[in-house]
Amino acid sequence: RQGQAQTFLGQPAVTKAGTRVRVQVNIAYPSDVDGIDIETCDGVGLMRTEFLFGKSLPDEETQYHAYRKVLEWAGDKPVTIRTVDAGGDKPVPGFTVEETNPFLGLRGIRLSLARRDIFRVQIRALLRAAVHGNLKVMFPMIATTEEYSQAAALFAEEQTALAARGVAHKLPPLGIMVEVPSVAIAPEAFANVAFFSIGSNDLTQYVMAAARDNAAVVSLNSVRHPAVLRLITAVAVFGQQHGIPVSLCGDAGGDPAVIPALLEAGLRDLSVAPAQLAMAKAAIADVSV
Ligand code: PEP
Ligand code: MG
Repeated sequence: RQGQAQTFLGQPAVTKAGTRVRVQVNIAYPSDVDGIDIETCDGVGLMRTEFLFGKSLPDEETQYHAYRKVLEWAGDKPVTIRTVDAGGDKPVPGFTVEETNPFLGLRGIRLSLARRDIFRVQIRALLRAAVHGNLKVMFPMIATTEEYSQAAALFAEEQTALAARGVAHKLPPLGIMVEVPSVAIAPEAFANVAFFSIGSNDLTQYVMAAARDNAAVVSLNSVRHPAVLRLITAVAVFGQQHGIPVSLCGDAGGDPAVIPALLEAGLRDLSVAPAQLAMAKAAIADVSV
């Protein structure tokens, strides 16, 4: 199957019915792109930035160079970089806090807004890197519109400061991860964001109340449960109605067993692990949507 799937790699993904589906890649390290031919994908749908926050807090230059490398590799194709999603299952010394229930605690955008000194460094690096390609920025774990507005306001403040200093920069489109049920259930409050990216890993764990990292509840943690699929459909429909691009960057996007349901839900934009790229394109070609 993998061997056959390779033949799909060099072509754009199209369903049996001729519907074009964008397939981007998820990357966790800038070096991940060294093994990928940009011609085989539609860009980077999710660049995680947690790698920068491994042992100590990264400075602006380190971040700028990491983002710039991926933007230059992608050329005019979009690169969606996610601001740091520390906390939850990703503790960072000197940044995250000890909590009894970390998946429901200070993680993602909540932590970034609580530690603005650290967040502003990342924002400046992103604004500066944006001149080197087609950057989009998204925020993880958004639950309320206030969080989005506060994060967007910090981008505007840092942009003004860079302009005052004469530093080259650009304000990228700002979007959100849809991975907290409050957003998927009431997306109308977010009609002003540039794009949505559905994080099916977290959305599933929060809808099913089944941790993504606990083997004992793995059967409950199913993106194909009607409750999860109904939310994904609602978000896709909302996006179509309001002209907001919607993609999906959870692991489900690269799963051939789930891809038909995602396309039926209305999604036309998936972001998958590089190892899943060929299989995902082959699975799309099998769907008659
Ligand atoms: C997700 O939650 O689906 C997602 C893509 O983000 P992460 O796996 O990094 O939490
Ligand atoms: Mg997530």
